[in-house]
Amino acid sequence: KMDKDLGQHVLKNPGVATAIVQKANLKQSDHVLEVGPGTGNLTVLILKAAKNVTAVEMDPRMGAELAKRVQGTESQRRLKILLGDVIKTELPYFDVCISNTPYQISSPLVFKLLALPNPPRTCILMFQREFAMRLFAKPGDKLYSRLSVNAQMWAKISHIMKVGKANFNPPPKVESNVVRLEPKSPRPQISYDEWDGLLRIAFVRKNRTLRAAFLGTAAVVDMLASNYKLYCAQNDIPIDDSPLDKQESTDMDIDMGGDEEDEWAGFSDAEDELPDFFKEVQKEGKKSGVGRKKRGRVTELVREKVRKVLEDDTQLGEKRARLCEEGDFLKLLYAFNQEGIHFS
Ligand code: SAM
Repeated sequence: KMDKDLGQHVLKNPGVATAIVQKANLKQSDHVLEVGPGTGNLTVLILKAAKNVTAVEMDPRMGAELAKRVQGTESQRRLKILLGDVIKTELPYFDVCISNTPYQISSPLVFKLLALPNPPRTCILMFQREFAMRLFAKPGDKLYSRLSVNAQMWAKISHIMKVGKANFNPPPKVESNVVRLEPKSPRPQISYDEWDGLLRIAFVRKNRTLRAAFLGTAAVVDMLASNYKLYCAQNDIPIDDSPLDKQESTDMDIDMGGDEEDEWAGFSDAEDELPDFFKEVQKEGKKSGVGRKKRGRVTELVREKVRKVLEDDTQLGEKRARLCEEGDFLKLLYAFNQEGIHFS
């Protein structure tokens, strides 16, 4: 009956369910979003402590079961069930999010919650243990990734409790952790897309130097150049993008930086769901910049700007993403933007 592809592991320990809802510190005036209510073990507890609940559930059978569970009770009119994929659903405003999260949507769900223009006060989320540890990871930790930097930029993350497999039915393969994610308020005054765009490039190969990440791959420079052209067009900055003469064109001569890949083998950022462009970059990174197309002067100008930012302005060219702190990335973003280099 349970659908494994939907991560249907129902909480069977009422103590854990109670603890999760208690940790949300709900107020009677709160509107709560619950992601993946399943049969409603958490939902009924939330309804006791909050004003109303919007529950987004992918599986119509589960939705029907939940509807039946509250039917005829006082809470019925305070529960709204939205059938569908929460990632694709337009969400109403809510004060608190609670979820025993289906693990396959952990990463997109966190990114969706962090990018909300009107973020909730707090989120209490159950994740598989390794994912939770990535949320907390600090520079130099093995699990430090784009997810860590993003999550910690936009939210305060704290650990609530470990939950063993035996508390679920059926038991999942991995252990779980409950974490609290409190979006920072006010929200840091930087563009989410710019910040994440920069991190995507820095972390495509996080063991390489930032110089290799930003300059070692033609696809990255090309993308920054096309963003730069757009920026110039929008700001009435004249540019000369005539093709370079053969002699003028510099070849890709970037030292990719000592590759420590073996040390990190087995780790994957797959959950970060890279768009196609970045998959290209990952492939190309392995080839070290061969097969360059004919490029214009703007590409060379942008390459020089990027070099200036990395070597002169921030002096972070030699540093590796896995060791960079939030402050390093902020410095980089500021310096790039000063040069008209944008990531979105
Ligand atoms: N909340 C219940 C509990 O704690 O007992 C069930 C949690 S179960 C781990 C995850 C639930 O999320 C399942 O009911 C599943 O059908 C639902 N689900 C899976 N993918 C979803 C998605 N993309 N959007 C909304 N719900 C989803």
